[in-house]
Amino acid sequence: MEKRKENKKLDFLSDLFEYSLRNDFVDTISYLGINSDCLIPNLSLFVSVDLEAEECLVFAHRKVKKSYLSSILENIREVALNNSLVLELSEYKTRILPQEEFIGTEGPNQPNFTFTVPIFAGGKSRAFLSFSKSGYLGPDTNDVSYINLIVDFLSALWEREAKEILERQNIEKLALVDPLTGVFNRRAFQKLFSQDLSEAKRNGTPLSLVVFDIDGFKEINDSHGHSFGDMILKRITSEFKKLLREEDKMFRLGGDEFAVLMKADKEVTYSVIHRIVKGISNIRTIRITLSGGIVEINPYNGVSVDDLMRQADKTLYLAKESGRNQILFYEDEKSKIKSDGLLLDKTVERLSDDINLKLKELATEQLASIYSSLTKIDKSIYEKPNSVSKYAISLGKELNLPENRLQNLKLGAFLYDIGMITVPESIILKNTNLSHEEYELIRHHTIIGGRMIQRFPILREVLAIALYHHEWINGKGYPFGLTGDYIPLEARVIAVADAFYAMHSNRPYRSALSKEESISEIIKGRGIKYDSLVVEAFLALIERKIIAPD
Ligand code: GH3
Ligand code: MG
Repeated sequence: MEKRKENKKLDFLSDLFEYSLRNDFVDTISYLGINSDCLIPNLSLFVSVDLEAEECLVFAHRKVKKSYLSSILENIREVALNNSLVLELSEYKTRILPQEEFIGTEGPNQPNFTFTVPIFAGGKSRAFLSFSKSGYLGPDTNDVSYINLIVDFLSALWEREAKEILERQNIEKLALVDPLTGVFNRRAFQKLFSQDLSEAKRNGTPLSLVVFDIDGFKEINDSHGHSFGDMILKRITSEFKKLLREEDKMFRLGGDEFAVLMKADKEVTYSVIHRIVKGISNIRTIRITLSGGIVEINPYNGVSVDDLMRQADKTLYLAKESGRNQILFYEDEKSKIKSDGLLLDKTVERLSDDINLKLKELATEQLASIYSSLTKIDKSIYEKPNSVSKYAISLGKELNLPENRLQNLKLGAFLYDIGMITVPESIILKNTNLSHEEYELIRHHTIIGGRMIQRFPILREVLAIALYHHEWINGKGYPFGLTGDYIPLEARVIAVADAFYAMHSNRPYRSALSKEESISEIIKGRGIKYDSLVVEAFLALIERKIIAPD
């Protein structure tokens, strides 16, 4: 009788185990409540074919966030730390891990006991069985031998089942991977995009689609040969793989066209892609640029995979049409200005430098006048750009920047803080500490400013100044936490010019610092907030009295 019951339980476990193996494991958290006279009142099974069991649990834990998982996880950690025990199955099987505190539904006064046993197969821990029971003080020798029976049974089952499943998965994987670059192919794109889209819709989580294409790849092939072209394709994908997170996916849609799915909003996506693209431009001796489009997926508007792909393609096309070497955000019909601006931009690029500059100045003036008409508070707005641009241009000259980049600094000084118009007066004028939300709102001014300037494509370089002037060299700045050279030089220059101006002028929350105090603050920030080279240039200009507080 006992024996039959035991077998029945083993059948049940075996079904469960097989089910878990066949259904992509990590998502499968089977929680059994076997109401029996025997040992196993609650049993949790975590199975994975190719993840180590601990990884699998950490994953499961992230997914479900159920409190009982955290108690199990604690046990696993303990096991994992104690490697010599984990490695030796026979030793391990008799080890039990008491868990004093079980966070479950039983009620606070019930003594509980949870312990976890790994199932080893193929040299790795493949699954964990976790047992718990309220009012239960721990397993006795009978319990342990029963557990060992299950463990042996399941590890043999794993060997048999998983081998077959792994083989099948490998074959499937091969059909979904591009042989040259090792990233997913177009077939996989259809399948995985639909999956990610459903997940984003279900959980309301962010998802962005990037589609990009190499600029002038035909010419690279023609002048350096096809195998060099292949090498470039491989290098590009490997640069992406280095910086993408595990949950992000990369696809080769065909030829020199790729797609990336990122579980992030469009700003974060842009910052990551921007960083990668910068790295790629320095591959070997030739200059490689990409054009692309980013579509942020709104999980609530029911847009289909095909629509999203069309939007991304359209944006990629615009990026190519309007000069290449750029990643644009998709904008819907409501914001037509963008594409009109792009057409304008294309024409403008063919015009002479003089006209180009005049147009840039006009665009800047327009934006700056919006800025001053909407800002009621900061009276210094009229003086500030003049001072900041004076400092920035001197710094630019000291750094030997060419004329066109000095112009960017001049225009940038008028626009870098334009996003501040969305920050309420009450916050700007506040002379007590800011709350977290208020601070977040202030931080957001860089992104708002960037978006406003983005509507004038001719001001592309100025956009970068507005977007990045609060980034710190050490990566602790905002909005993206870019580091060092990833922050455009113009933004690093404006950061110092702005800081120096701000320090020696009165603010609602403090009075002006002296010239010496301001200089020493800048020195303190060298290599932390500010670029050391820019600070060197700043000190040289102070020394020669070219920069002096107004
Ligand atoms: P554009 O800036 O408009 O994108 O110009 P492009 O020259 O890159 O034009 P397009 O994207 O249309 O050309 C893609 C080229 O990529 C055409 C083909 O010669 C080349 N190509 C496609 N597949 C491969 C491949 O597997 N290896 C190599 N080396 N080249 C490929
Ligand atoms: Mg191309």
